Amino acid sequence: MRHGGVILLISAPSGGGKTTVCTAMLARHPRLRRVITCTTRAPRPGEADGVDYHFFTREEFEGRLAAGEFLEHAEVYGNRYGTLRTSVLGVLQGGQDVLLNIDVQGAASIRRMAMADAELGGALATVFLTPGTLAELESRLRGRGSEAEDVVRRRLEAAPREVAEAVHFDYVVVSGTREEDVARVEAIYAAERCRRHRVRLEFGRFS
Ligand code: 5GP
Repeated sequence: MRHGGVILLISAPSGGGKTTVCTAMLARHPRLRRVITCTTRAPRPGEADGVDYHFFTREEFEGRLAAGEFLEHAEVYGNRYGTLRTSVLGVLQGGQDVLLNIDVQGAASIRRMAMADAELGGALATVFLTPGTLAELESRLRGRGSEAEDVVRRRLEAAPREVAEAVHFDYVVVSGTREEDVARVEAIYAAERCRRHRVRLEFGRFS
């Protein structure tokens, strides 16, 4: 693992507020890059291949899946989505770090891959961002006001199962204000950059 890069994976129960944290991290840390993921759905107006997604045909996607090219994949509303191993490792090999904003199932799949893959395992740092209580999650979901009642209910029902996944992550951030959340994730990122295996010292043959 020569690049010493970080894959900062952020996951949360839905309503956990991870997208705002990820947006702030990307804006503040130019070394941190998002990866372009893949989908079989058609591009929406204004979306470009290789910018918003890699748009694949179903056949192309299935072929790559069979070849083991995806770190994780999911089917959402009848379309396939996935993260290519080469997209993630390409960023690291270019000397940058990767920010992955991914649901708990995708996170579990990436952790499994990382256990069998030294390059991935050495880079991966996982963060679970969650409100501290079910009541807080409910108030956030309702506060957004954008979800229908049945969607809110479904997410609340799924939440205890999703939050139980926290034990599998390296870090757990109990969500406070947006600024507090960003500050904690920044602290984690800074600490990860200082992990011994990522620091290269140049003091001749002793380093
Ligand atoms: P959309 O079609 O609106 O762009 O995305 C639909 C859903 O697919 C969103 O919830 C988005 O987060 C999810 N998604 C996008 N890319 C990936 C991916 O690479 N892997 C997984 N598991 N989900 C993804």
